[in-house]
Amino acid sequence: MKQQPLVSIIDIKKYFPVGSGLFGKKNHFVKAVDGVSIDIYPGETVGLVGESGCGKSTTGRMVVGLTDPTGGEIYFEGKKLSEYRAKKSLGKNLQMIFQDPYSSLNPRMTVADIIAEPLVLHKVGNAKDRRKRVDELLERVGLDSYHGSRYPIEFSGGQRQRIGIARALALQPKLIVCDEPVSALDVSIQAQILNLLKEIQKDMGLSYLFIAHGIQAVKHISDKIAVMYLGKIIEFADKEELFANPRHPYTKALLSAVPLPNPKMRDRERIILQGDLPSPANPPAGCSFHTRCPVAMEQCRSIDPNLLSTSEQSLTACLLFEDRVAN
Ligand code: SF4
Repeated sequence: MKQQPLVSIIDIKKYFPVGSGLFGKKNHFVKAVDGVSIDIYPGETVGLVGESGCGKSTTGRMVVGLTDPTGGEIYFEGKKLSEYRAKKSLGKNLQMIFQDPYSSLNPRMTVADIIAEPLVLHKVGNAKDRRKRVDELLERVGLDSYHGSRYPIEFSGGQRQRIGIARALALQPKLIVCDEPVSALDVSIQAQILNLLKEIQKDMGLSYLFIAHGIQAVKHISDKIAVMYLGKIIEFADKEELFANPRHPYTKALLSAVPLPNPKMRDRERIILQGDLPSPANPPAGCSFHTRCPVAMEQCRSIDPNLLSTSEQSLTACLLFEDRVAN
């Protein structure tokens, strides 16, 4: 029997109105997320990568219910997310770890109060139970019980991210959206946090949607990887498949920048993309990548490619892989 996804994201969109027309009617929209679909299965990690402004963080925020989609639907264990929200039980199952370990923790609260806050909000246990749970969580993330009485300012960036992870784990969620959790940390600390997240996943069987702007950052932790560009997924594949056989020209460019451990392969061609990411307020017509694509064709200026199956483990949105275009 086919396993049911823990989370099904189906064709979600997030449009932000900008500017107004006659009678104040909004007539122009920034399409931050424009038709994203992803299934996340129990115990797996899906990496979501792309440049700043591609819509990956907005996608993550919609998955945990911090912002509502303009269109499309998100299902958690087969039920619409909106139904969970009505029952106020969403936060028990879906949590988020934020990018900035400095601003995401309230500086006026002790670490114990920060970690216990979700338990208090959801009325879990009494004060004694919660203190015991806080101690367990501190230990789980590699900190000590005495750290609970201190304030966030007394900790390093890596330790603060551990506190953020402990808070996210407090209610034993089934999925955590990790929004660039290591990008603000020193390289030496990044590996420690990634290893901690992997250990926790192994122990608790939870799932991650792991957001990062660099493809290398998601390699270590992901089972599958979705590459986003201007609000859309342009390639989605099993990690091994994506790294061994990237199909989309954008994915190829991202991978060409990743340092290789094998010296024999270090002379491979580096693909340098020209220009910046176009504004999502005014995306190019046709394939939105055509303004930077090194192999763009005439048709790419007018035809928007569909995300289609290109192997058993991959989907790609590129006209090079569509029958409707004569190559
Ligand atoms: Fe490049 Fe055209 Fe493919 Fe877009 S559709 S990625 S522009 S080749």
